Amino acid sequence: KELEQWFWRITNYAEELLDFSQIDWPERIVTMQKNWIGRSEGANVTFRSEQGDPIVVFTTRPDTLWGATFMVLAPEHPLVDKLTTAEYREAVEEYKYQAARQSEIERLSTAKEKTGVFIGAYAINPVNEERIPIWIADYVMMTYGTGAIMAVPAHDERDFAFAQKYGLPIPVVIEPPDWDGGPLTEAYTGPGPMINSGPFDGTPAEEAVEKVTKWLEERGIGEFAINYRLRDWLISRQRYWGAPIPIVYCEKCGMVPVPYEDLPVILPTDAVIPPTGDNALKYHEEFLHTTCPKCGGPATRETDTMDTFVCSSWYNYAYLSPYYKEGEPAHADSTPFDPQEAEYWLPVDVYTGGAEHATMHLIYTRFFTKAMRDMGLVDFDEPMIVLRNQGVIQAEDGSKMSKSKGNVVAPDDLVARYGADTVRAYLMFGWRWEQGGPWDPHGIEGVVRWLQRVWNLVLEPAEKQDGEPTDEEIAGLRHRIHKTIQRVTDDMEVFAFNTIISSLMEFTNALSKAKQTPLYGTPVWEEGIETLLLLLAPACPHISEELWERTGRPYSIHQQSWPEYDPDLITEAVITLIVQVNGKVRARLEATADIGKEQAVEMALADPNVQRHVAGKEVRKVIYVPGRLVNLVV
Ligand SMILES: [Zn+2]
Repeated sequence: KELEQWFWRITNYAEELLDFSQIDWPERIVTMQKNWIGRSEGANVTFRSEQGDPIVVFTTRPDTLWGATFMVLAPEHPLVDKLTTAEYREAVEEYKYQAARQSEIERLSTAKEKTGVFIGAYAINPVNEERIPIWIADYVMMTYGTGAIMAVPAHDERDFAFAQKYGLPIPVVIEPPDWDGGPLTEAYTGPGPMINSGPFDGTPAEEAVEKVTKWLEERGIGEFAINYRLRDWLISRQRYWGAPIPIVYCEKCGMVPVPYEDLPVILPTDAVIPPTGDNALKYHEEFLHTTCPKCGGPATRETDTMDTFVCSSWYNYAYLSPYYKEGEPAHADSTPFDPQEAEYWLPVDVYTGGAEHATMHLIYTRFFTKAMRDMGLVDFDEPMIVLRNQGVIQAEDGSKMSKSKGNVVAPDDLVARYGADTVRAYLMFGWRWEQGGPWDPHGIEGVVRWLQRVWNLVLEPAEKQDGEPTDEEIAGLRHRIHKTIQRVTDDMEVFAFNTIISSLMEFTNALSKAKQTPLYGTPVWEEGIETLLLLLAPACPHISEELWERTGRPYSIHQQSWPEYDPDLITEAVITLIVQVNGKVRARLEATADIGKEQAVEMALADPNVQRHVAGKEVRKVIYVPGRLVNLVV
């Protein structure tokens, strides 16, 4: 059944939607959107029926025009009825009926064998005046291009299969390499010089399209054209739940938009879905019947509702101020959100979501924003500046979790057992956020132990050690604190949550060690604990709040400023490493304070003076005092 439905003209924005220069989105999303929009350059060429009706076709290969041996129209093409001859009418009607019963997806399926029927009429190929038969086939859609194609079987796989099946000629007009001049066994779609093409014989591939297009333009039979795969957005849905389409139908005035002051149209809450599953709004008398805003006569409302993607296209705007001017009548200059909130918040800085939205939600919301900009509602071009896609946690064996397979690991069960903070921290720690991966049930115990240690570290009193911490000890811990702030802050920016957790684990270890020293209870110790809690808060919001409160800090940890690091404190301290060979000092080397044994030995052995004293002998033993000394025994 044919339906009259509402579309939005997203195709007006096809070219602009191909411009990603203002946004930082994952490359694969950009590629998917580009393919979805499907821009191709070519030519619109005007064929004519024998009766003189113009039939425009779009082709990306105007250089193959001389090889067109038939034309195919969509079964719904308006000329089909007019051109079909009496002899073929019955077969054509039957075919049209079959085509109308299939979905677009069925019709366009590449797996499906191509079928079609001849309609008894002919078209004239404008480049060589040849008479070519006109067919209809269900794989040509009225909604793609012009609903008509020229078929060049020698150089298009689909046309080749069709021509073979129906015994249509397959003349070669692009010379394949090493071609023997015989019939082709498959379509040749590669480049090659033009042949059998009248004035263009011998034209090399790289010049062909441009030259032929120019020639077509000079003769007024064709012109350069850009075609997009993108089609207008069909927003009508035949169902009750959805945003109403604010249109009424009046017998006298036709389609009339609901005036601003009557917006929004609100769905009834008591509509009953009939047993047929049909749209309940069609049977809700009160909703259905209204008066025409223009003439005041009886009218009915549009009962189709909008695609749910309409709502998600602008929720980032609606959520700014959901009750903005609620109950006040709207007028032509009304904005659907508070402009001051918009000024502050928009566009969205960072947006995260699944890659499965690439060609639906993520393209619709870009379109919406551009349309809103053109309506004067916003002054920017893109809804979200940075987009990042999260990975998916799979079942243990790497397959997709699904209810039907019974391999779903339910977060609720884990939360009940371990607590939400542990589950959150484990998910952050165990997988790279943007990659995901197979579920691992074992690692979570490690996170449990870590959070228990954090708890004890903060709350369990320790014995105060004798003496005062040295300046080095204080500087060492302070360096550690600020280094950790830097790491966690930087990692947060790039969604590296796994390394945030590992940095916090290392920091917990460092503080645990400090707890056994005179550092415990000093101001730098307190700074360390406070920093740990603040850095932990986004990952583990509950335990951090609890510890924050129990240590007497003001509610709430989630309203505190993010800690900032002091750049002077994060530079790696430089130490002097003393190198001995058999107990005698042979070198003094500058090294970073946290240099490890292996690295220290490597550095020592690279020193020329040390090399002279080792003199190629085997190093039998290495004594290493961290941060101070390497003694090589040879
Ligand atoms: Zn009216």
